[in-house]
Amino acid sequence: MSNGSQAYTLKDTNSPSQVIRQTLIFSSITLFFLLTNLKCAKDDPGPLFFRFSPVLFVDYNQEFEYEYTAVSSSGKPVTYQVELPDWMIHDEASLKIKGTPLYQHSNRDYKISITATDGENIITQNFSLEVVRAEFTCDVNFGEPSKSPYALPFDVGTSSRIIQGYCRSGTGGHIGYFAYDFALNMFDTLRAARSGVVMFVQESFVDGNKVPGQENFVIVEHDDKTAARYVHMTKNGVLVDVGQRVTQGQPIGLNGLTGATTSPHLHFDVFRSRNFGGFPALRAQSLPVNFSNAQGTLDQRNGLREGSTYSALPL
Ligand SMILES: [Zn+2]
Repeated sequence: MSNGSQAYTLKDTNSPSQVIRQTLIFSSITLFFLLTNLKCAKDDPGPLFFRFSPVLFVDYNQEFEYEYTAVSSSGKPVTYQVELPDWMIHDEASLKIKGTPLYQHSNRDYKISITATDGENIITQNFSLEVVRAEFTCDVNFGEPSKSPYALPFDVGTSSRIIQGYCRSGTGGHIGYFAYDFALNMFDTLRAARSGVVMFVQESFVDGNKVPGQENFVIVEHDDKTAARYVHMTKNGVLVDVGQRVTQGQPIGLNGLTGATTSPHLHFDVFRSRNFGGFPALRAQSLPVNFSNAQGTLDQRNGLREGSTYSALPL
């Protein structure tokens, strides 16, 4: 209470004009120091300084890279000491800090400390890297279909009905992510919607098992580090090998009835492939896609509509 009464006493002794004068003087001094410091920071970085500003945030699943070079104005060689979170890698040869945060790293700050010395001067760059988890929303536009890098994953000249669309509500599949279920016959040829490298295959499960998680599938990673999943293939119905490069339209498997399904269909979806984590991998970021050769009516977001039928035009 004594501190409070002292503060009141001080305030009472200052007339309004005194307060204004003191404020003006204080503001002038602050402005002077601010301007001086700004000038120094611009014209004179000091004898030893970091060349680059720190990276302050990164999305989960996205590669983070920071080059931390410090420069000695005297040209002396600089040595470093770096402290990092365990999920980051320190490449001393290239002076780079790298890492790809996982889903479980998101919504957190990670401390990075880099100390540089040229034998005479020493400076430290401490900063926090925030791993961001972008809020997922189904309210997106799928983009201009003619510019889509994807083609319908079945034979040109044939058509398929969308049994389940993307971002459904209520119970069932495809809730909170983008996926299509294409109605197809048993053993219909499934084709690569986009070029890439086969990342994962599974073909040992039997048709009609109806067990969630026991789906046969192929995952193809594209050049932009996204990956497409082709799910529910028939037993021994995979036509490609891991590591094999496939081109758009190339047969990659045969349609089937494995895993959580009661009718033969292809479940198709696309994710960012970093730290993909296998099937069902819903924690990787789901991406909305449409198809450049799909003939049929799209919805207002340019996505394929549940219940509609789409024909595959020539590529
Ligand atoms: Zn599905």
